Amino acid sequence: MSNYLIVGSGFSGATIAYLIASQLNEKVTVIDKKDHIAGNSYDYRDKNGIMIHKYGSHIFHTSSEKVWNFLKQFTDFNTYMHKVLGYIDGIETHIPFNFNTLYDVFPKTLAKKLEEKLLSKFEFDSKVPILEFQKQEDDDLKFLANYVYEKIFLHYTTKQWGLTPQEVDGAVTARVPVYLSKDNRYFQDKYQGIPLEGYTKVIEKMLSHKNIELRLKTDYKDVDSSKFDKIFYTGSIDEYFDYELGQLPYRSVRFKFETYNKPYYQSNACINYPCNYDFTRIHEYKYYLDDRSDKTVIAKEYSESFKPGKNERSYPIPRPENSSLYDKYLDKAQSLKHVYFLGRLGDYRYYDMDKAILRALELFEKIFQ
Ligand code: UDP
Repeated sequence: MSNYLIVGSGFSGATIAYLIASQLNEKVTVIDKKDHIAGNSYDYRDKNGIMIHKYGSHIFHTSSEKVWNFLKQFTDFNTYMHKVLGYIDGIETHIPFNFNTLYDVFPKTLAKKLEEKLLSKFEFDSKVPILEFQKQEDDDLKFLANYVYEKIFLHYTTKQWGLTPQEVDGAVTARVPVYLSKDNRYFQDKYQGIPLEGYTKVIEKMLSHKNIELRLKTDYKDVDSSKFDKIFYTGSIDEYFDYELGQLPYRSVRFKFETYNKPYYQSNACINYPCNYDFTRIHEYKYYLDDRSDKTVIAKEYSESFKPGKNERSYPIPRPENSSLYDKYLDKAQSLKHVYFLGRLGDYRYYDMDKAILRALELFEKIFQ
């Protein structure tokens, strides 16, 4: 019997499980209600040899030396630097909106004028969230801000969240700022890449420690949790408390997979369709590890609200009333001295993979060091 129970085998659960098993030399039980490990980072090679990200594209990127060094114990990465194209007014151009986008979508003379205005107002290489950018007084910059808002943010955000950019926390659209640069990459982090054998393999290696016992298809409700000294819960905190204060809302994403009998479907791994169609973007998976096949697999991404039992939780919805409901649950959790909540669902935070890992590393240090 182990002293530690970890609920959920995504990056958060696997990281804390590995640390307890390896650094404390303690026995750990990891449970997951799914029939596979790795949570929403789960990937697998399909019959064409293409690595598929079952729950949507996962691109690893971090500026944290600590997180990078931790993960390097389990995998090497390719040197993939993610770029995103957006289908805007009939052309494929760069997202985030940058100087290259500016020259793609406007006639050269207008682009030049806007470029000069931008550089008189903002520093080269600065990033400006769209909701900040819209506050400009200058008519030309106002015109540009409205263009970017309408063509990139408004409809995409409405599809993705069921809310306008004003209705979600500004931090959400600030993830994709207007970038005063010619850098077409989606992220500027020092370290970026895709694990060479996929994310599932990374987590499999973490969980293969001799002190870890893994139980799939196991619901927390079916485990006698009183037998454990400490519990690390990476599921949603409202579910832990049987929704007694109400349900924390989430967005869910659904993927429509399609296989094509040709080497490539589109010109880039990810193309966004802010203003067209009812999906938000199309992922083409073979780009990530440069998989070779005569066929290609794509996924069209649709967003919908989360309904328990119907679909999966993908994104917490950053809005003040949701954070205050989360805080009320957290207050209740404070009285449980032996249960810790972490991860995108446990913390109800829009973490990227590196931030989920960092949170687990820091929680381990806080409790045990
Ligand atoms: N966004 C947008 N248009 C785009 C790309 C992003 O409006 O073409 C907004 C949208 O609200 C989205 C947010 O920026 O939810 C964050 O985008 P990101 O690509 O970081 O989302 P993720 O990959 O985590 O789904």
